[in-house]
Amino acid sequence: MNAANEAAPPILVAIDGPAGSGKSSVSREAARRLGFGILDTGAAYRALAWAAAECDLDLENESALVATLNEWTFSITLIGETRVMVRLPGSSSDCDVTAAIRDPSVTSRVSKVSRHPSVRASLNSLFRRIVAESGLPGVVIEGRDITTVVAPDAPVRLLLTAAPEVRAARRAGELAGASPEQVLEDLRARDAKDALVVDFHTPAPGVTLLDTSEMSFGQSVEAVIDVVTSAHAVATGGASR
Ligand code: C5P
Repeated sequence: MNAANEAAPPILVAIDGPAGSGKSSVSREAARRLGFGILDTGAAYRALAWAAAECDLDLENESALVATLNEWTFSITLIGETRVMVRLPGSSSDCDVTAAIRDPSVTSRVSKVSRHPSVRASLNSLFRRIVAESGLPGVVIEGRDITTVVAPDAPVRLLLTAAPEVRAARRAGELAGASPEQVLEDLRARDAKDALVVDFHTPAPGVTLLDTSEMSFGQSVEAVIDVVTSAHAVATGGASR
């Protein structure tokens, strides 16, 4: 393929934040309106936690987890509803794990998987490959360390936050039958474990902080799109909208 035929790499919008900050839902809607894909990196960590249980792996066993990453087949849709498929090592069929990875049993295990440095390094390579091969004009990548580790050179980098009580109330609204108090306790526990590995509460230099505590869903989406369009205007020297 000569240079003229090569597609330009996608524009990257890196978004980090804790659970309930609006990160997933806001990123998804902003991506849709921008005509970009969305890569939910948490889904891959969750899929690995699911696979570890299926294969009866010890979550302390970092090399066994990395071996699984080397041998499994993982795919995730970047456009429309997220669909996550996994083919376990040694299996001949794909398994749709889209719903299973949201199970509370996976949520409670996932921090044990994500704390291993070589698991993170391996998944980060996977994320970069998925984006590079997407063929899309742009991709919003959301997670915990996207602005700092996965795509530190992205032209748009955002950290979404919200007060813990607001995050818990939003999450409780998504989980049938869950009390806000229990959700807040679970969120705090997961945040504390995850924060040992990556800092997703303080924006790194050059990262725009967006506190969505007082914003509606629509206002949060608008705010993200505003940051993307003004960064694009700066990059191209044109008007923002
Ligand atoms: O975003 P979500 O809550 O689905 O992420 C699930 C888990 O995956 C987090 O609790 C964290 O342990 C891990 N994660 C991570 N780095 C990312 C995305 C998710 O460590 N970039």
